[in-house]
Amino acid sequence: MTFLPFTRPSIDEDTIAGVADVLRSGWITSGPQVKAFEEQLSAYLGGRTVKTVSSGTAALEIALQLCGVGPGDEVITTPISWVATANSVLHVGATPVFVDVDIATRNIDLGKIEAAITPRTKAILPVDLAGLPVDRERLYQIARRHHLRVVEDAAQSMGARYRGQRVGAFGDLVAISFHANKNMTTGEGGALVLPDPADGTMFEKLRLQGVVRLADGTMEVDVAGGKANLTDIAARIGIGQLARVEAFNARRRELARHYFACLDQDLRCALPLADFADTNWHMFQVLLPLGELTLSRGEFIAQMREREIGIGVHYPAIHLYALYRQRGFCEGQFPNAERIGRETVTLPLFPAMSLEDVERVCEAMASVLRPALR
Ligand SMILES: *Cc1c(COP(=O)(O)O)cnc(C)c1O
Repeated sequence: MTFLPFTRPSIDEDTIAGVADVLRSGWITSGPQVKAFEEQLSAYLGGRTVKTVSSGTAALEIALQLCGVGPGDEVITTPISWVATANSVLHVGATPVFVDVDIATRNIDLGKIEAAITPRTKAILPVDLAGLPVDRERLYQIARRHHLRVVEDAAQSMGARYRGQRVGAFGDLVAISFHANKNMTTGEGGALVLPDPADGTMFEKLRLQGVVRLADGTMEVDVAGGKANLTDIAARIGIGQLARVEAFNARRRELARHYFACLDQDLRCALPLADFADTNWHMFQVLLPLGELTLSRGEFIAQMREREIGIGVHYPAIHLYALYRQRGFCEGQFPNAERIGRETVTLPLFPAMSLEDVERVCEAMASVLRPALR
């Protein structure tokens, strides 16, 4: 039996040939491929300005900088995400303020945001976990009422929809990641959707050393920008992936549906929200009923691995990492996030999987969990 990883990118031969052409062209850093990729992303996302960067993390950091977030400011965010989300707030010198998640959606609990707003709050940084969009209507009602900016961490929700509209097509700043594990990839890379095209110049400065090219062929620098431009090599991968992202997401939906049909309800795992309208099914995550099991999550993962199945953990609660404990966070503050952090496991889900692979995962889960149920 071959090993089934929890995710794997799908790169086609046309893209590989396209990358080879870029490598032979003599121009491999940011150039015509980046320009074309940004135009295609903008068209896919409804026409707003889209700028690429070298990672989703860079997109988040530049977005916060464009909002003027810095030392002394607070940003409200979720404790259940890849640690990049909260780290980006620290990186611009601001303070992350966590709000617990909703146990059903596993996204930030919108009903608890207003209690966390202080005079120092500058922005809300929600995450569409596993590609399930946060309720944008309620989110923007809160943001408008309190005059807050929103940076949507849409790293996982490329191609997902909210009430028929693509994530990124509306709202404030929207940050996307093209990391190898995301629904479409450039190897490493990211993008930011800018609601105000006038922010494009500042974005470009922050992306590349603050440099502005002048008409007379010289340059000026008036901002300490970073170094986060995307290469043409990566952009060419992105062009090949963007053409297939709708098909990828349709396949993910199909596989997710099959999980719902095949997973044994007697195993008492908490399933994700069965949404087939909006989510892009970036991940299929279940919560293990650890209180009713004689094995730990680590033992479950090891026994699935013995059956040649890769299981992921996305994610431990961010506030319980050493970096955040040192900043005063502790156990008991965000019970839903802590429960998810303890119990969550990510089952294999990627476009090249077969329906039989899904069945194999479900059978393996039953064989591991059934004897361990109290
Ligand atoms: C992947 C991810 C990021 C960071 O993206 P990178 O491209 O890895 O820098 C940020 N937030 C979330 C929710 C992610 O899943």
